[in-house]
Amino acid sequence: MILLQVQHLEDGMGLGGKRAIITGSNSGIGLGVAEALAAAGAEVVLNSFTDRAEDHELAAELGARHGVAARYIAADMSKGAECRALVEKAGGCDILVNNAGIQFVSPIEEFPVDKWDAILAINLTSAFHTIAAALPGMRAKGWGRVVNVASAHGLTASPFKSAYIAAKHGVVGLSKTVALEMAGQGITCNAICPGYVLTPLVEAQIPEQMKVHGMDRETVIREVMLLRQPSRQFATVEQIGGTAVYLCSSAADQVTGTTISVDGGWTAL
Ligand code: NAD
Repeated sequence: MILLQVQHLEDGMGLGGKRAIITGSNSGIGLGVAEALAAAGAEVVLNSFTDRAEDHELAAELGARHGVAARYIAADMSKGAECRALVEKAGGCDILVNNAGIQFVSPIEEFPVDKWDAILAINLTSAFHTIAAALPGMRAKGWGRVVNVASAHGLTASPFKSAYIAAKHGVVGLSKTVALEMAGQGITCNAICPGYVLTPLVEAQIPEQMKVHGMDRETVIREVMLLRQPSRQFATVEQIGGTAVYLCSSAADQVTGTTISVDGGWTAL
């Protein structure tokens, strides 16, 4: 293990000896970020709300692939106490990636109240709890990285996604506030704003979007999802992972309280 960590340092990646918690990381972007941080030498703690053998196997395989310690800790990010318990059970962290998120698409008058509450809890309030729990340990070490996975929808809006867009704008505001509170203490906080990335979350939106817009699958992908992404290409989980690694590097020591868009030009429009 020590030899492998030295190797990661020699590779110039420099995250050996750092522990990262990535919420919502048994699939999609979270898993991609965990993979990238592990490849850079970090110990990783994967999370979701399920507690299946396959979740723990996923972490074990990821750790073995990169020669780092890796664990899976189940915690439901819709529940504040579980968010804080995740950080405690992990033994604190040097890198906190708030990534857990869900989506629901509906006109606002018909938007189910339980969906609104769940989206705000998982996509926004969970980050408040995990950050509050993780910061004391980071402050004690004089080093920390908080990376919040927001969205292009943290900077712009689209119809039928009121809860998601409210939550993601909230994540951007929360990131700026934490950055100011931690300024000069070796701790940065930023938000990554991806455009569309083809993950299970996006796959699940396609039928809803087809219904709302009355379009077939290919038309929804071309005319709705990628319409505002000038590259007309999905971003990849590897690109989001690489951005997170950059934010954790010493090159980003003075990058704080800001957003980094990985959106094929969406927010340049
Ligand atoms: P995904 O569905 O593949 O991943 C979501 C993750 O969150 C999963 O691991 C899921 O198990 C977990 N999760 C859901 N509810 C949870 C809960 N209550 N407690 C703990 N974990 C929970 O989706 P994704 O596309 O990888 O999304 C990850 C993040 O990226 C989300 O915050 C999403 O809003 C954001 N994002 C995605 C895209 C995209 O196009 N895919 C674009 C911008 C932002």
